[in-house]
Order: sequence, then C-alpha cells, then structure tokens
Amino acid sequence: MTRVRQIGDGSLTSGEIAGTLDSSGFFKGAAVYAMALLVWLAALPWPASWEEQARERMVTEIEAEFRATSSATGKITLSPKVKQTLLEVPRHLFVPASLQSAAYENRPLPIGHGQTISQPYIVALMTELLDPKPEHIVLEVGTGSGYQAAVLSRLVKRVYTIEIIKPLAEQARRRLMAQGYTNVEVHVGDGYYGLPEQAPFDGIVVTAAASHIPPPLVQQLKAGGKMVIPVGGQFLTQSLLVVEKSPQGEILTRQLLPVSFVPLTGGH
Ligand code: SAM
Repeated sequence: MTRVRQIGDGSLTSGEIAGTLDSSGFFKGAAVYAMALLVWLAALPWPASWEEQARERMVTEIEAEFRATSSATGKITLSPKVKQTLLEVPRHLFVPASLQSAAYENRPLPIGHGQTISQPYIVALMTELLDPKPEHIVLEVGTGSGYQAAVLSRLVKRVYTIEIIKPLAEQARRRLMAQGYTNVEVHVGDGYYGLPEQAPFDGIVVTAAASHIPPPLVQQLKAGGKMVIPVGGQFLTQSLLVVEKSPQGEILTRQLLPVSFVPLTGGH
C-alpha cells in the first residue's frame, strides 16, 4: 500500500506557479524568447554604414545636377537602374586610401600618374547617354581607376576597357577582380585604335579628351550604337558629344555641354 503524504491543503500558495516548471522547461522558454528577440532584431532596418549614407548624398547631388543641366543633356533624372548601380558600387575602393573619405564628393579625384577618377555626375551622365542594355557589349577608352567600368559592368553583358598607362591598367584589373567584376576585361594600349578583335560595340565611352572623333572607334561602333566622347583642345574645356551610328550606317553627332577631361594621349 502506497502512503501519500499531503502537505498543506493542496491549494496554491504565493511561492508556487501553476503548471510545470522544472529547470529544462525554464531554459526552453528562455530559448524561445531569445529566438523571438533575434527575429525581431533582424527585421529592424540596419543603420546605414558611412559609405551607404555618403552614396545616398552623392546620388542626391547628381540628381540635382541632372535637373540643372537637363536642357543641354536631355536627361532630367537618373534612370532607376543607373541610380541603383551608383548606390551600390563602392567608389571609395577605386581611389587611393588617403582619399577614401572624399570618394563620394561630386568631383574628380587624383588617382596617380597625373590622372583622375571622373566626377560622379559625369560618370552618371555618360552612362545614361550610352543607354546601356543587359545584352550590350561596351568599350571604354581610359580605364583609369576602373570605377566607370565597374558601373557599366552591372548594366551590360560585357565591358572591354583599355588604358594606356600600364600600372593603372594593372591596378584596375586587380581591383575589379577582387570585387568580383568578372565581365570586365582590362587591356593595356592606345584606345584611339579601339579593340578591333572585340568589335563591333553597342556602345563606346571615351573618358579622355580627344582632339577629334577617332575614326577607328566610329568604325568599331555597331549600326544603331552610340559613342559618348569629350572632344576639344587639351587646356580648355571640351564639348561632350554623343555620336550615333544609324541602322543605315549614317553618323549623327550631338554636342551637349562643356566638360573638362585629361587629354587622350598616345601616338596617333
Ligand atoms: N574612366 C576612369 C575612371 O573611372 O576612373 C577615369 C579616366 S581618366 C579621366 C582618363 C584615363 O584615360 C586616364 O587613366 C588616362 O591614362 C587614360 N588615357 C589617356 N589617353 C589614353 C589612350 N590613348 N588610350 C587609353 N587610355 C588613355
């Protein structure tokens, strides 16, 4: 016979909790609360990093400049895809370490060898003027830091870029590879002559000032393709031109606005 010893009258007292509360139950309950807290925290928007905030400010300035220059360029604002690209590409990784804090200011910066990374507004404008499409093959003349090539590579199928200063080309190639831009091919050479083996191109962007439109580049442009190029003297401002090859092969040139680029060098 089992003897049951009753303590008290069986009702709850202030030191007891109804239900089961052993130590494993306590830990299970705590784990559920901790998980719920983590899920809630993960759903909160992360505070933007300094470079995300700086890119937002840069894009706001670019959009203001687009509005201010729209009568000359025909571009009132950034297209969503170019805007998103500018918000994502880490421009601070394309400038010397000592200038990283200035990377998102809307101005050109020195990149060594007497060359510059172009002003963000100009990169955005040249990109928009090319009207890049996901199936496009594009040539850039003047790799410099590799930033313009990185921007284009997110918008088109393949980017060929050519730089006349070998150390700049090699540095840009390393940078682009390290950041996973696998659809960019960096060449060393005189971009005046383009890349005949990879031609024709849907678009060509020249990021150094030429004294005239290079005939080899016109030749390497597809029918229906566009070239964006600054043309003019070395020491004054130049004109930004859009050169279009019609489906019938006619060349139409539009002069947009004054710009200031380093010269297209080389033996031509
Ligand atoms: N697109 C570059 C970027 O995103 O950093 C900026 C280009 S910087 C304004 C012009 C570049 O064109 C310089 O790096 C310069 O060495 C290069 N360049 C000048 N003449 C060239 C030529 N004939 N062929 C290829 N590159 C040239």
